[in-house]
Amino acid sequence: MILVIGGAGYIGSHYVRYAREQGEKLVVLDNLVYGHKESLPKDVPLIEGDMGDAALLDHVFTTYPIRAVVHFAAFAYVGESVIAPAKYYQNNTVATLAVLDAMVRHNVRSFIFSSSCATFGNPHYVPMDEKHPQDPINPYGESKYFVERILRAYDTAYGLRFVALRYFNAAGADPEGVIGESHDPETHLIPVIFQAAMGARANIKVFGTDYDTPDGTCIRDYIHILDIAQAHALALKRLEEGDSSDFFNLGNGQGFSVREVIAACEKACGKPVPIEEAPRRAGDPPRLIASADKAHTTLGWKPQYADIDTILQHAWSWEQNRRY
Ligand code: UDP
Repeated sequence: MILVIGGAGYIGSHYVRYAREQGEKLVVLDNLVYGHKESLPKDVPLIEGDMGDAALLDHVFTTYPIRAVVHFAAFAYVGESVIAPAKYYQNNTVATLAVLDAMVRHNVRSFIFSSSCATFGNPHYVPMDEKHPQDPINPYGESKYFVERILRAYDTAYGLRFVALRYFNAAGADPEGVIGESHDPETHLIPVIFQAAMGARANIKVFGTDYDTPDGTCIRDYIHILDIAQAHALALKRLEEGDSSDFFNLGNGQGFSVREVIAACEKACGKPVPIEEAPRRAGDPPRLIASADKAHTTLGWKPQYADIDTILQHAWSWEQNRRY
């Protein structure tokens, strides 16, 4: 059985659905602070609680025959992490340490970690490969980077083997429309644009128009949520076949500016989106684009939905027919 921590969240729930379809048996641990019970299939048990709770973790590891842990649970608002750093270090780093210690206690040695392109900080070059220097510029990125360092140490000390997947910008939704992105508050660019298109918000605020990029707005590499799910499944397979611990960047190798994403969303939904130019958001690097060559060659990762218009269509159809 696979323990999926944060399995009721946006990325975790898409992995649960994907892995279940591949025949995996799963159990989810989620505190439901941001997760949604409704996003989980009825036959996947949900344990509601905190991953930092050692007694609860002991209960989970003794109750279920867990062979691996796939860990998604995190606070992931870059802007908030600048204002409330302790929340990020505590939850994303310290509570993750409790998970790793429980794994060591219960002799579970395979761990897949949701890391982030935010561990890199400002780009020295793009596309960014795994050799790019890591110097995070916000507490969110640091909280993930610290876990990456801890993982190396736990591998050396306890033989805990891991794959850390550094995703660039997760986007889109399950093409069948059963699950999708639902954050409260919603701050992510694509859902906010569609909400502005539907009139649920007055406009989309473009955070910073004076970056050193062709149109002055930030550039990001958007990757479909199901392609991220696929990478987790491949990473776990690779670990269980005996490969050593490793780090992979996940993205499509193509960058889109905030203005380009807005234009593509207008095309996807056929509606104009009112824009307000706003100051830069603290903690945002100007440009993040992945080189995922290593994931392609080593993991055999083949994105199915690399096209931005497909990603946006799936996001738009979820936004129109949200179930939670
Ligand atoms: N962004 C924006 N307006 C918004 C939300 C986001 O201009 O209402 C920008 C943000 O500054 C960043 C990009 O869109 O450059 C992607 O932001 P998001 O929060 O979706 O993901 P992040 O890159 O922080 O993981």
